[in-house]
This record gives sequence, structure tokens and C-alpha cells, in this order.
Amino acid sequence: AYTMRLQRYLARAGVASRRGSEALMTAGRVRVNGQVVTELGSKVTPGVDVVTVDGRACTLADDSAYVMLYKPSGYVTTMSDPQGRPCVASLVPTKRYPGLFPVGRLDADTTGLLLFTTNGDVANQMLHPSHHVWKHYVALVRGVPTRHQLQMLRDGVKMPDGVASPAKARLLSADDPAALPVLGEGLPYNHAVVSLSIHEGRKHQVKKMLRSIGHEVVRLHRDEFGPLALSGLMPGQWRPLTDAERAMIE
Ligand code: URA
Repeated sequence: AYTMRLQRYLARAGVASRRGSEALMTAGRVRVNGQVVTELGSKVTPGVDVVTVDGRACTLADDSAYVMLYKPSGYVTTMSDPQGRPCVASLVPTKRYPGLFPVGRLDADTTGLLLFTTNGDVANQMLHPSHHVWKHYVALVRGVPTRHQLQMLRDGVKMPDGVASPAKARLLSADDPAALPVLGEGLPYNHAVVSLSIHEGRKHQVKKMLRSIGHEVVRLHRDEFGPLALSGLMPGQWRPLTDAERAMIE
């Protein structure tokens, strides 16, 4: 939690200008947690301290930013890259929303939904393993997984670095709209499209899970991240989350 000067808080809450807010304080009309505060250097913690003017509560509008990006292939999920590779940072409005950072990561060759925010609490919530935030991926794989191999994914497949949590897994037919992002020219000979939902987020998790059942991932796309679904965007485009989407993750 960060602190700010009380007069700045009041101004940000729309009570009055900075000067006007100082006048309200010196007039004894401002209370913090029930106590009158007249000292102009006083600090408050937004969201923790209760600030009232003439007995009426004033709260700060949440100014957290949330941006959904349709990540194209060929961009690393970092805000800068010492090796000069293309970064997702160049695709999102970092000037308009200072402090924007990606919530988790996608491999450079993975496409799809990447969420950005300035809100560290929300990011932690969505990434913490205990919250079991489900992510949905579509993978184009070499070879065609058998029912038995798909069942291994559902049971919890053994990977080189441990056992994966049970996933939801099924094959998609080539004309399923969800398969489109990994198909391009159509389904290549001796390939298949796998729909996979997981709530873990270890490095290269999906690729390792599919490799562990004997199928190499050729293309990987994420179309859902928790309650958020990729929509309304072309590869490389971003949009702010709608109020309804914000409400689902805040
Ligand atoms: N799993 C992977 O292997 N790669 C990603 O980018 C995301 C999940």
C-alpha cells in the first residue's frame, strides 16, 4: 500500500482543488479514521484510511489500467530486451498507462491473449497457483493423439520436471472456429488440433505436457485467461478491458 498527502487525496477524489482541499483541512472539516486532521503534511493510505469531509466519505476512483493484447508470434513477453528482440511493450500503450506490465508470459512463438495491468494485486491473484485460474490453449501438434494419450493429460501427465495437474483436453476438428488461430492454410497432413485447459503456469507448460504424451507443438495459441476471452482484436492489437471484464478480475 502506498501513501499520499491528504490534500492530494482530496483533490484526486474530486472534493476540491489542492488549495481548496487545504482550506477544508485547516477549517477542521476533514477527518481521517474519525479524527480531525488539520496538519497539511499528513499522509493517508488509499483504500485503508477512511477519509470524510463534513462527515461524508470520499474515496478515490480506482485508476488501475487493464489492457488485453492479441499477442502476435515473434515477440518476447518483456517490457525491454537487452538483446534487442521485439518486445510486447512496443505493442501496448505504455505512455498512456505508465507502469503497465504483463500478467504472466507467453513464449515468443505463442500467440493470443496476454493481459497487462498496472495493478500488482490483481496480477498476483491471477498468477498465484492457489487461485487455480484456468487458461485455455489451442495447440497444433505433430501426429494425432490417441484417446489414451488425451486421457493421460486428464489424469495428470508425467513431465521431466514433475507431474502436471489434471487438464481438460480434447481434439478439435479442423472446422471448429476455435482451431482457426493455429491453422492458417488448413490442417497439415498427420497433424491435430488439441484444446487444453490448465491452471498451472510453469515455463513451457503446454509444450512440455504435449511432448510428454509424444506430440510436438507446432503452433500454440491462448484464447482464455481466467474469465477473460480473447475477442474483438486482430493479432498485434490491444484494447482496454470493458467494465464488465474488470469487475470479473478485480
Ligand atoms: N505453455 C507453453 O508451453 N507456452 C506458452 O507460451 C504458454 C503455455
